[in-house]
Amino acid sequence: MTIILGLEGTAWNLSAALVSEEKEIYETESTYKPLYGGIHPREAAQHHASELKGVVSRALGGAEKEGVSLRNIDAVAFSQGPGMGPCLRTVATAARALSLSLKIPLIGVNHCIAHIEIGRWRCGTKDPVVLYISGANSQVLAYRTGKYRILGETLDIGIGNALDKFARYLGLSHPGGPKIEELASKGTEYVHMPYVVKGMDLSFSGLSTAAKDAINLHHHKKEDICYSFQETAFSMLTEVTERAMAHLCKDEMLLAGGVGANKRLQQMLKTMCHDREARFYVPENKYLKDNGAMIAYLGLLMLKSGNTTPIDKSVVKPNYRPDEVEVTWREEEQN
Ligand code: AMP
Ligand code: MG
Repeated sequence: MTIILGLEGTAWNLSAALVSEEKEIYETESTYKPLYGGIHPREAAQHHASELKGVVSRALGGAEKEGVSLRNIDAVAFSQGPGMGPCLRTVATAARALSLSLKIPLIGVNHCIAHIEIGRWRCGTKDPVVLYISGANSQVLAYRTGKYRILGETLDIGIGNALDKFARYLGLSHPGGPKIEELASKGTEYVHMPYVVKGMDLSFSGLSTAAKDAINLHHHKKEDICYSFQETAFSMLTEVTERAMAHLCKDEMLLAGGVGANKRLQQMLKTMCHDREARFYVPENKYLKDNGAMIAYLGLLMLKSGNTTPIDKSVVKPNYRPDEVEVTWREEEQN
């Protein structure tokens, strides 16, 4: 059995987990909550620095109760990017120290691909089109000849950040996505919002501005605006995902990333998949948001395919794109 310790801390959630081929052995986390406004990179990094020792000790202690000791750990994996520079550096430093002191390999993991691989593992889907939507990222991807190709993506901010930004305007605390979802469920009237799809790419920043104006200048009810915001943004995401599936002739789709927890979005995607006789997959919420288990799991796939990271190549990559990663752990699809 191979066991990997995974560390995640690209943004607001610091998490450590131990994972084997069979299961998640133990996962624990500590979440940074901004007192006001959005995530402040330096404050989030300070949070991670002061919580790291506790989080790693709890993960190791929890694993010990499951019969896994320090010397059973085969490698340390960490989020090498994308993410906030100060947060990434804090967690990478801890990962390097653990790798050196335990004398086990270090594995720098692409955070976006970790979201995809944990979803494939938990849902048992083989070769899906992936809609990956989180705070900072919004991408449609699929695997082809050794890489996860980005078929479409946001041209400005991620959908999660657009929701969080509008939520802040409404005076709601971070993260705003779930609070917008709650308000949207009470909306009844659709108010026109900018629907911006350019080819396979998307734009969300105008949506936040239009939503603010609809309340500020046109005095619409906030429930109706949350509803209209969601209907517009989620239709855009569904449209691009469907086009990717049509072009690639794929009959599976996987939802990944924190915004994937939204029930209305899940419903829209499910309907789209049903209409084209495709299967829709979404993992449990705990694997949608940022978590150490996904980092450990991708680390496991990478270790088993001989893909580790020497210390001198372990510098963090705040803009690390998934299509930069050579996928060493997947068989080529026959199509
Ligand atoms: P991640 O970066 O993957 O951890 O995702 C965090 C983002 O997911 C934040 O922008 C949240 O506001 C957003 N989010 C979490 N739950 C929901 C939800 N139910 N609806 C919409 N957005 C959500
Ligand atoms: Mg994420």
